[in-house]
Parts: sequence; C-alpha cells; structure tokens
Amino acid sequence: MYLLIMGPQGVGKGTQAEKLSEHYGIPHISTGDIFRYNIKNKTDLGTEASSYIDKGELVPDELTNRIVADRLAMDDARQGWILDGYPRNAAQVEALDGILAKQGRRLDAVVVLTAGKPVLLERMRKRAEIEGRSDDTPEAIEKRLAVYEKETAPLLDEYRGRGILREFDGVGAIDEIAERIESALNK
Ligand code: AMP
Repeated sequence: MYLLIMGPQGVGKGTQAEKLSEHYGIPHISTGDIFRYNIKNKTDLGTEASSYIDKGELVPDELTNRIVADRLAMDDARQGWILDGYPRNAAQVEALDGILAKQGRRLDAVVVLTAGKPVLLERMRKRAEIEGRSDDTPEAIEKRLAVYEKETAPLLDEYRGRGILREFDGVGAIDEIAERIESALNK
C-alpha cells in the first residue's frame, strides 16, 4: 500500500497514520517528524529547517524533496508506506510523481481527513499544552492554516481528478475513524 494522508493541521493525520501504519505493516513517514528529529539532534538540516518551521512557513522544496526521496529509497519502504505531511504544494506533487515513476510504483489512495476550524484550533491548543511544539504558537498556527488553505488544499482536486481521493470525517472516536478508513481502503 502506498498511501498519502492529507488534511489541515490538528485534524488528526498523525494519529490515523499511526493506525494505518500498524494495520498494514508499513512505515509511517512524516516529514514534520523528520524535521523535528533533526532539530532535536541539532543537525545541519535541523538548523536550516527550524527557521522556517518556527514561523509556520514551509521548508524549501529542494530540501524537503531530497529528504523524502532519500527516505522512500530505504529498505523498509519497499513494500509500502504512508506519507504524512507531504506533498504540501504543487511542486512537491510533481517531485513525488517523479520519485514514484522512477521506482515503478503508484499511489493506491489519498486519505483526506476533514474538520471545521474551531475543532482544529482547539486540538492544536491542547497539543501545545502537551507537546510544547515550537510552532504551536498562535501566530504560527494561523500561518500554518493559511498556508494549508492556499498551497495544500488545492492539491486535493488534483488527486480527486486522478480518482484516488478518499475523504473521511476527522471528528469522532479515533478507533471508529480508523475502522471507517480501513474498511473503505480494503474494498
Ligand atoms: P507537520 O508536523 O506536518 O505539521 O510539519 C511541521 C512543519 O514542518 C511545517 O509547518 C513545515 O514548516 C515543515 N514541513 C513539514 N512537512 C513539510 C513539507 N512537505 N514541505 C515543507 N515544509 C514541511
């Protein structure tokens, strides 16, 4: 299974990606997690990425695309993966298409989670208390949602046009949402 999971910040992508990762036995690859790991370990990549991340801006495509290409070439990514947080703009869709074409693979589905803005803001506020992410400040949250609307939401039409978009309500019990996604994907 080669899957994307998409949706606005706070909709529960990471949580559902973990569920799908366990269910299908495929790695959960989150570009945000890769960046945060590098920031925590003070790598050059982390230093470069943090200046963008803290402001709620996208890390430049060149850097992000390279990280994804390297990660998808690893051994554990041969039988499938679920990509979380990538692609986020049209250039990244193109880069991913290129990587997949080279590997002779194609996406099975793009899972989209939806929720209204009040729900998203409340979830991010709670997460900020628990995780203390550097980009969960009110300013960065607003910026990230705006970037999502402008750059990422239009990509859904692209994948809808390819006939692989699957939309799900992201509000509700975690396990029920996971079951709905899995039964739709297994059909
Ligand atoms: P996330 O955990 O997916 O919300 O990502 C946290 C932050 O990492 C984002 O706000 C961006 O600054 C950066 N980031 C993650 N994925 C990407 C991507 N595909 N392209 C550019 N920046 C990204």
